[in-house]
Amino acid sequence: MKFQPQKRPIYGENLGSLKKFLTETGEAAFRGQQIMDWLYKKRARSWEEMTNLSRELRSKLDETFDIVPAQRMEANESADATEKLLLSLRDGSLIETVVIRAPQIGVGQESSRKTICISTQVGCAYGCKFCASGLNGWKRDLSSGEIVAQLIEVCHQEDATTERAKEELASFDNIVVMGMGEPMANYDNLMAALRTINADWGLKFGARRITISTSGVVPKILQLAEEPEQFRLAVSLHGASNEVRSQIMPINQRYPLEELVPAIQKFASVKGRMVTLEFILIQEINDGFEQAEKLVEIAQRLHAHVNLIPYNSVDGLDWKRPSLARQDAFHDILKKNRVSVTIRREKGHDIAAACGQLKLKTEEALAG
Ligand code: SAH
Ligand code: SF4
Repeated sequence: MKFQPQKRPIYGENLGSLKKFLTETGEAAFRGQQIMDWLYKKRARSWEEMTNLSRELRSKLDETFDIVPAQRMEANESADATEKLLLSLRDGSLIETVVIRAPQIGVGQESSRKTICISTQVGCAYGCKFCASGLNGWKRDLSSGEIVAQLIEVCHQEDATTERAKEELASFDNIVVMGMGEPMANYDNLMAALRTINADWGLKFGARRITISTSGVVPKILQLAEEPEQFRLAVSLHGASNEVRSQIMPINQRYPLEELVPAIQKFASVKGRMVTLEFILIQEINDGFEQAEKLVEIAQRLHAHVNLIPYNSVDGLDWKRPSLARQDAFHDILKKNRVSVTIRREKGHDIAAACGQLKLKTEEALAG
């Protein structure tokens, strides 16, 4: 399904397309930069605020462009400062954007690092067996404007009172594309959005601080390797053999490990950067000694970092998180083999749980 909004989201425009619109409607092209300044530097929420533009131009803009394409419905905050924003789009679709605050070791609480997790689709077609996002299938791709709008919503939430927020256009440190949807299945819109986020006229946010997570769409990993920007790559592995991976991720039948691993290797060598392998630990599925040993082999071959994520239970799904002892045993095997490895241990999973869960719960509540 393709959603055709009545107005184009303004955050979907780049400086070139905006200047084109302006000259076509008899306005001066330099107004494009002024409009971008209002949106990204001064964070205007309405056309009326753009006082250096004529009334006529403001009403032209209002007729064509949507300045608030995503509206905040609710925010859930958990004990460990993870915040989930539920956003409603123009067609009523719901998406999630997550703000994760991690205190930096050795630094005061104020300088905690902030990561924003954004969605790229409404639902997901990939149907991984453990994931809430894919439970109701895929509804539609997000437009580039809707992807950018998630970050703008987060910026608007912040009181720009902290020194950092005043200094920086974006008051967060990292962006991870790990929310609802498969980013590589909406590649062009994602790239357009990330370029806006990265642009001097946009959020001026460094590509090196943006990580794209994929379930393993091989041709798109290779395409990303050829892009000029240094975006980071994370791959959801979750199984260190085809047998285990295919059992939980249907995409493994299309792109099995013998294709996926060389594609990651290619990305790492072209970009000269370490890739992250995400590995959810699910009880009695992939948490055994054999899987750990196989994961060591893959990680060593790729010189990759491994991020172990104890599974978050999803209502309606039977998968379970392994015991702490079993998580530790798995972790130790990787450490002993000198694999660079971290294990996610924050408490925030009461609400920050798996992507797609808040949306699912809200939809069920609305339906019931
Ligand atoms: N589609 C992309 C990005 C979105 S999913 C991908 O699959 O990589 C982001 C991450 O959350 C993935 O690693 C995904 O496997 C993980 N995830 C999904 N459901 C989860 C759950 N219930 N518990 C823990 N992690 C989960
Ligand atoms: Fe889609 Fe990623 Fe969830 Fe798989 S893990 S269903 S690819 S969002």
